[in-house]
Amino acid sequence: MTDTSKTLCPYCGVGCGLEVLPPARPGRPVNRDEHGNPVWQARGDRNHPSSKGQVCIKGGTVGDSLDRSRLLYPMMRESLDQPLRRVSWEDALSRITYEMRKTLEEKGPEGIAMYGSGQFQTEDYYTAQKLLKGCLGTNNFDANSRLCMSSAVAGYIQSFGSDGPPCCYDDLEQTDCAFLIGTNTADCHPIVFNRLKKYHKKNRKVKMIVVDPRYTDTAKAADLHLAIKPGTDIALLNGIAHLLLRHGWIDPGFIDSCTDGFSDYAQVVKSYPPERVTEICGITLSELTKAAAWWGKSERVLSMWSMGVNQSTEGTAKCRTIINLHLMTGNIGKPGAGPFSLTGQPNAMGGREAGGLAHILPGYRLVKNPEHRQTVEKVWQVPEKSISPVPGLAAWDMMLALERGDLGVFWVAATNPAVSMPDIKRTQDALRKSPFTICQDAYYPTETAAFAHVVLPATQWGEKTGVMTNSERVVTYCPAFRNPVGEARADWEIFAEVGRRLGFEKQFAQRTSAEVYDEFISLTAGQLCDATGLSHERLAKGPIQWPCPAGESDAIAHGKHDKRLYTDYRFATPNGRAKFCAFHIKGLAEPPDENFPFVLTTGRLYGHWHTQSRTGRIERIVKKYPEPLLEVNPKDAQLLEVQSGDWVEVRSPRSFAQIKVLVTQNITRGTVFMPMHWGFLWGDNMEVNALTHPEVCPISLEPELKACAVQVTPI
Ligand code: SF4
Repeated sequence: MTDTSKTLCPYCGVGCGLEVLPPARPGRPVNRDEHGNPVWQARGDRNHPSSKGQVCIKGGTVGDSLDRSRLLYPMMRESLDQPLRRVSWEDALSRITYEMRKTLEEKGPEGIAMYGSGQFQTEDYYTAQKLLKGCLGTNNFDANSRLCMSSAVAGYIQSFGSDGPPCCYDDLEQTDCAFLIGTNTADCHPIVFNRLKKYHKKNRKVKMIVVDPRYTDTAKAADLHLAIKPGTDIALLNGIAHLLLRHGWIDPGFIDSCTDGFSDYAQVVKSYPPERVTEICGITLSELTKAAAWWGKSERVLSMWSMGVNQSTEGTAKCRTIINLHLMTGNIGKPGAGPFSLTGQPNAMGGREAGGLAHILPGYRLVKNPEHRQTVEKVWQVPEKSISPVPGLAAWDMMLALERGDLGVFWVAATNPAVSMPDIKRTQDALRKSPFTICQDAYYPTETAAFAHVVLPATQWGEKTGVMTNSERVVTYCPAFRNPVGEARADWEIFAEVGRRLGFEKQFAQRTSAEVYDEFISLTAGQLCDATGLSHERLAKGPIQWPCPAGESDAIAHGKHDKRLYTDYRFATPNGRAKFCAFHIKGLAEPPDENFPFVLTTGRLYGHWHTQSRTGRIERIVKKYPEPLLEVNPKDAQLLEVQSGDWVEVRSPRSFAQIKVLVTQNITRGTVFMPMHWGFLWGDNMEVNALTHPEVCPISLEPELKACAVQVTPI
């Protein structure tokens, strides 16, 4: 394999460019880990337009994980009380196709479901859509992106007529006011935050507002921190809108010519006067008025958000309420301005483009739209009406379907729902009921593999070739730079092989990921996410941002990475106008009460990634973040009679966790914080999702993983 390979970091949606080097290179000492084992080295790629050579601890240490705890060969068992035993690929695939045929006969296509991942490359996502939605006739494909940013997807579709974040990272360095809400960008999107922080430090007139119940490292860099009570975002946003209206800090020309629905919206925000809003949110009048004045008096406002907004039963409403502020002030379609959702995973964006959720199809199409289905059916060479018009099961609905016994085959790939789903004890009980579960992963053991009948070894990033799209729509080619370990195969190849064995030879005739990608981009022609100017060959010369229609010159494709959407102020709705929509606050689905008096909020730590399948095996990260801690405000700690290092039991109406306390001013009174990364492989009773509830946003179907009511008791 080659000496230095350019690729993309496989962790978060910032999508930093990496250069990866093999352990041994001519004329240099072998690169080794703490134990003396040779390891691959990763460093920032200075030529990548999104990150310009920067990486955080995760990207910088990813080489350490490539050979740790890898799943090397397929394994199988008849029932969960037996041990998994090594089998051949032939045996594993025969069993899978047997179980799928049996389920199709007994339960029909809706008896099969696949739960995929933002870790997939676009080719993996696309092939899975064709298998499930086109060939089998079920839309039961959903991804862990449902737990991450599906509220943002729904918000964009409803307000603008299409998914697609309109901004780019250059906006970070051209804004007058950055409004960060529900995002601990410093810890979760570190390189985006570094760019913003540097610009903010150099330009003292630029304002940074951070809205978060925690005083995070993001909040520490802000000019104004609004520590609102959890679940009060909509009141705050409507309160800002109220003041913008009162002071005339709006853009009437933009509202008149580019939007619909303003007068109804204005009526609703009238009922959010500052006195009411400050009471609901638990902030001062001066904080609220300052935030509104900075919004209103800035030429260019850039808002950013992530899971703190999306993971809510009001997730879509919150996203649309943020977008409302941009529409009323004309802050969109120009440098330094716009609503910018930050994606969690490295290719959650590519998944959206490839149709990787239960209600969508490739090219930002919808399963409910008959023309969209027809276009996709033609390209997939499946008979008309093969694609069901009914959206499939979303992530949590898959657990409910397992509980009810509706599924015959449940296929999990590149994700770990036995840790990351809400109400984890109920999730694990549902997984135990599954008649046949396939767990396809690069790593072993994982918590989900404990519930699998067949375990399939997948190649990971670096062992297969494909592309990924980051939060600012930059698509990066990720070549295989080393050989697969053991008998591992690429996810897309496994899906295609199963498809061929089920009789869909023609549909899965492609033998390379470049061919798969070519077919996918043909489905983006004329869509907002037009990528017909892309190909593996072209992307191998450097990252390209979409839209990139066929015929776009190299000078633009490779030279311009600050493309914005809606610069002509025409939106993707039928009449070209963006839509206001007003929402009243509903609050948390499970507010605190006398039995469960604290709000538990959850989140990520700077060093760890999701359920630690990778970062939990990297010593440099584990040493820094060895265990989960419960953040408790000093006044609450005094009442509870606990100190830092004491063990407590945290109990919600569903179950409990046991964890050490960290007493800190960084969390507001009445709220406690617990990280999400620890599943049962890493210790007993450390799972935050033992506590969370599964109520979902009725529009995006994203669960409210961010907040639930708990009691805290010293042990
Ligand atoms: Fe990787 Fe995200 Fe860190 Fe960049 S910020 S190096 S993409 S984890």
